[in-house]
Formats: sequence, C-alpha cells, structure tokens
Amino acid sequence: MSATSVSREALVSACNDLLQPQRFKDYGPNGLQVEGRINVRHIVSGVTASRALIEAAIEAKADAIFVHHGLFWRGQEGTVTGWMKQRLQLLLTHDINLLAYHLPLDAHSELGNNAQLGRLFGFEVKGSFGDQDLGLWGVSSDGQTFANADALASRIEKVLGRQPLVIHPVDSAAATRKINRIGWCSGGAQSYFEAAIAAGVDAFITGEISEPQAHLARETGVVFLACGHHATERYGAPAVAAQVAQQLGITHQFIEIDNPA
Ligand SMILES: [Zn+2]
Repeated sequence: MSATSVSREALVSACNDLLQPQRFKDYGPNGLQVEGRINVRHIVSGVTASRALIEAAIEAKADAIFVHHGLFWRGQEGTVTGWMKQRLQLLLTHDINLLAYHLPLDAHSELGNNAQLGRLFGFEVKGSFGDQDLGLWGVSSDGQTFANADALASRIEKVLGRQPLVIHPVDSAAATRKINRIGWCSGGAQSYFEAAIAAGVDAFITGEISEPQAHLARETGVVFLACGHHATERYGAPAVAAQVAQQLGITHQFIEIDNPA
C-alpha cells in the first residue's frame, strides 16, 4: 500500500470539486457524512454504506469509505439505535471517514452511474430528461438498432450478469418493434418512466419497477426493463473514487457486496 497520505479536507474538497453537490436538490446530505481520522491513505468504494461494506472496509484498512447510498436520508427517524447504531459504532470505533454522494454521483457526465452505464451498454448519449435532467437517452453507438426488446435485454444481461425483468407492450406490433431510442436512469428511477415516454424512447432501462409502470409499458408501447437497483449503480462510485485517489496519489479499491435487489 502507498505511503502517501492526504488530509481528510483535501479528499472531501476533491470530491466536491468533481461532483458539484451544490447543484442538486437531494434526499440526504452529500459529502462527508461521518468524520473519521485526519489523514487518508486508502479509500474503499462501494454502493451502499451497509454493515457488510463497513466491515469489509475495516478489513481492507480503509481510512475513508466512498458510497452512493450513505447513512442519512430525509424522513428518517433520526435516532441512533439498532442497525444505525451498529453501522455508526463500527465507523467511529475504527475512525473511518464516510463520504456519500447520491444524485451528484448519478449525474456526473463521465464518471457518474448513468454515464458509466451508458458506456458499458454501448450507448451514445443524445439527450436527457426527467427531474434535474438525470435521465439520459441515446442510441447504440455502433449505429445499429436492436431487433426487438429481447435483443436489448440480452445486451444488458451480458453487461450486468443478471437477467432484467422485461415488460412488453400488449400491442403485438409494438412488442416486436425494433428498438432505436433508449432511455436509462440508474437505481430506483421507475418514476422517470413517464418523462422517458415523453422524450420519445422505444425502451426505458432502470433498476427497479413498481406496479404502475407495468401497465404503462403495456399501454404506451414503450418497453420497460428493470435491471436491478444495485446492479445499475455499481459503476459510479468506483469510477469517481479511483479518479480522486489517482489525483491525490492515494490508493483505492472497490468492494462489491452482492445485492439481488
Ligand atoms: Zn440508488
């Protein structure tokens, strides 16, 4: 492991400079959520500040953890009991800094969850849609259209290593239609479906689905692909943490804590 260390402040300001959290209206605090030791040599990135990730970071001798889903969200009880106590106790006992970036990490134009997902799927970004312009739409960058929804689903399965849930339109002509314009938004962005439809996409990719979207997909002729909240948000945190670590001359590793949801 590198002997170089930087101050906690330098790490937080490098992350803020890159992700510009002040530009977003978010559901929780972005930036340093739990203060740990003053000097940072090694960062562990992950999707969620779960107990399993914190334990793995302790094992990896991390000085800081960088995640997409931190510990604090609007509407929480606000008490430090049960699972929250356990997670905080581990962080505080081991003096580990916790940095969390939610929407700014989805949105970063090169390193964010949505940009990374589009790159991995082989999509070229043509525009954006939805609240705070977080949804992206584009076409396959090889210039080809997908023969049908199943062809798109198999591209996704190859990249993510899991089979998406696909809701096909009821209209048989729409169900077998070629897919050209694709909209996507990582994580729990099922509420972006209507904005994606309005943007004129043939298919919409996100992590999760709720009951109403199945009907909308059937009725509007726009295919809905639910590909896993975790699976679609695995790429932004390591991309940003790796870039920041390299810039500061410290070390980084991503730790995957598998999550079927
Ligand atoms: Zn998420």
